[in-house]
Amino acid sequence: MLAIVGATTALAPTAHGFCRTMTGREPGDPSSTNRCDGWNEQSKRACCPYGKPLFWKNACVGYSLQRASSRQLSLNDAEAVFAKAFQTWTKVTCGSGTSNRVSLDMRYLGPVECGEVRYNSEGPNQNVIVFRDSEWPHRDPTNTLALTTVRYDADNGEIFGADMEINAAQPSPLSASDSLPPGALDLLSIATHEAGHFLGFAHSVDTEATMYASYRAISMRDLSPDDTNGICGVYPPDQTRATGDGPVPAEACDPTPRHGFVSTCEDTSSVEGGGGCAVAPPGTSTNPSEEPWRWPSSIPVLLAGTGLVLLRRLRGQLRPR
Ligand SMILES: [Zn+2]
Repeated sequence: MLAIVGATTALAPTAHGFCRTMTGREPGDPSSTNRCDGWNEQSKRACCPYGKPLFWKNACVGYSLQRASSRQLSLNDAEAVFAKAFQTWTKVTCGSGTSNRVSLDMRYLGPVECGEVRYNSEGPNQNVIVFRDSEWPHRDPTNTLALTTVRYDADNGEIFGADMEINAAQPSPLSASDSLPPGALDLLSIATHEAGHFLGFAHSVDTEATMYASYRAISMRDLSPDDTNGICGVYPPDQTRATGDGPVPAEACDPTPRHGFVSTCEDTSSVEGGGGCAVAPPGTSTNPSEEPWRWPSSIPVLLAGTGLVLLRRLRGQLRPR
């Protein structure tokens, strides 16, 4: 989640480096979500140490936009914003020389019909980015900007799929223009932050980082050294992935989603709970008591929701978290 900090904060500028979303949960709290939510927020000042970190194994990851885009934004404009946001991460070079680019590519697979956050464990999928224009189906609709939900293998942290929801129903207009109009929210900043979650990163405690939990217009468009350390560390130029089980080779480029690509919402009735996660993304770190969405135990997949929260804070107010 990402908070807009309009005024100030008394947060110490302690830099601990990037954090990754983990498969583990905080011990002693069986009701907590699976993600150590909030662990690496300012209060704890460290990355969640439980479980294994998430990663995409393939050298290429496909994504789509929901065809309707948003009332505020044409599909073309949205495509441009998200292409740029992902490219901000994948164009990073590690060390000197352009040949040292990170070993991850994002491939746009075109618009899709399905705008549901879902994962089909037995059939084709899409990694969709969808705008919620009329209603935000999650907690805190006026303050939440976006939510990225990631499905992964609970055993090793490999990401199976990810979907991103953008809250276009909150009061502030979203802007896709280079120069941000007064009062508008910068979609590219939001998209770049959420892209980090999509790639398996959690919030950083580095206040300069794109993955810092507080929204900062415009400057979040560009990665900080902390963010580039993260993408270079997890998806290094040597075509490996940094996993909880050590480095593993990336799979050859194939952006097809797991079990194939489909534009429509595939019937997931065979999946326990109906599969549609519209009711379920376990939410953001503001509500650690929410139960995680679970797939059948034979399919070791958990969902991680990582949201972006806009906190319209009053000056001097404590962080409501
Ligand atoms: Zn976030």
